[in-house]
Amino acid sequence: MAKKSSKKTAKTDPTAAGKPVVEQRLERLRERIRAAEVDALLIQNLVNINYLTGFAGSHGLLIVDGEAARLVTDGRYWEIAEGLLAESGSSARIVAEPKGGKDEFFKDLFKDLGYGKLGFEGSLSVDAFDKLKERTTGAKTKLAKVSGQVEELRQVKDAGEIKAIRKAAKVADQMMEVAFQNIRSGVREWEVSLAIRRAAEDLGVRGESFTNIVASGPNASRPHHSPGKRKMKKGDMVTVDLGAVVDGYCSDLTRNPVIGKASRDYEKMYAACLDANEAVIKACRAGAICRELDAMAREIVKSHGFPDFNHGLGHAVGMEIHESPRFSADTNEDVKLVPGNVMTIEPGIYVPGFGGVRIEDLVVVEEGGCRVLSKSPKELRVL
Ligand code: ZN
Ligand code: ZN
Repeated sequence: MAKKSSKKTAKTDPTAAGKPVVEQRLERLRERIRAAEVDALLIQNLVNINYLTGFAGSHGLLIVDGEAARLVTDGRYWEIAEGLLAESGSSARIVAEPKGGKDEFFKDLFKDLGYGKLGFEGSLSVDAFDKLKERTTGAKTKLAKVSGQVEELRQVKDAGEIKAIRKAAKVADQMMEVAFQNIRSGVREWEVSLAIRRAAEDLGVRGESFTNIVASGPNASRPHHSPGKRKMKKGDMVTVDLGAVVDGYCSDLTRNPVIGKASRDYEKMYAACLDANEAVIKACRAGAICRELDAMAREIVKSHGFPDFNHGLGHAVGMEIHESPRFSADTNEDVKLVPGNVMTIEPGIYVPGFGGVRIEDLVVVEEGGCRVLSKSPKELRVL
């Protein structure tokens, strides 16, 4: 199917002589395809397809070789795909997938392409892999697992991506203000949760980047508490974790207001968590080792006499809410931060039966430091 020209201008990066961003990404992927010693890479992860072409449908696969990229999708998306590829400036050709006879169609397609060795993503399900094997056998195409290539490209955000994430972070700050306006004695957690969700829609964004968390009083000792019917009361500390999707990119923010007056114990817990959050932000820069920053936060929390937290210190954020790299004790290798990583820094303290606190900011890693995108104030907010 021929690609129509579009009046819309493609998203370009001025530093690369006007070449569409998606084409620059394809070029970087082609270097990796060559290094992996395969003739082509089959991409079935829809987020990765979106990243490489601008196509944001719910069905499709992308085959990238040294010369061309082919987007195979069905009749629901032909027209949409044409528009999206034109808008992004993608050179990908649309290959029309028929309604029936898919096995024969793919067998013929792989025979025509005639690859000796085809890479596939490790995230493929076992069922999908079996199907792929069946469809490529006749073409005598060998299969090779080539994992994480697009995900690795996605770790380094370009200026346009950082701009979108900054906008999403700003919306998260505004949503947090709405949460603060709704948190008071006698209100149920789910009512605040609903107000946050409505705020995301009122602010005209594509929605929340994940289902928000509102955890009050003792419920806050559970990091991923689902907002429930508990009525908040005076003296509660409330964990609010939320985010938005703007221009296809996510944000993530956590704050912990107190209703009425904070007890001395809450104040101590909050101060310890803030100490860890601020120390990591200070140390976060290109070249810092993810595992070491994770360990640093835990040491600070423990030095204040509080228990270690049971989740990673943070994660990368982009088109998806949880991306790589991660600040985690599980990371065996010494993964280092590079400029363009966008990370959350979210140490927490959780005391069952008492409550919890988690202070989460979104930062962009730069040489010599990091830029904090979350602007929501961090002094203990009393409502
Ligand atoms: Zn969060
Ligand atoms: Zn997070």
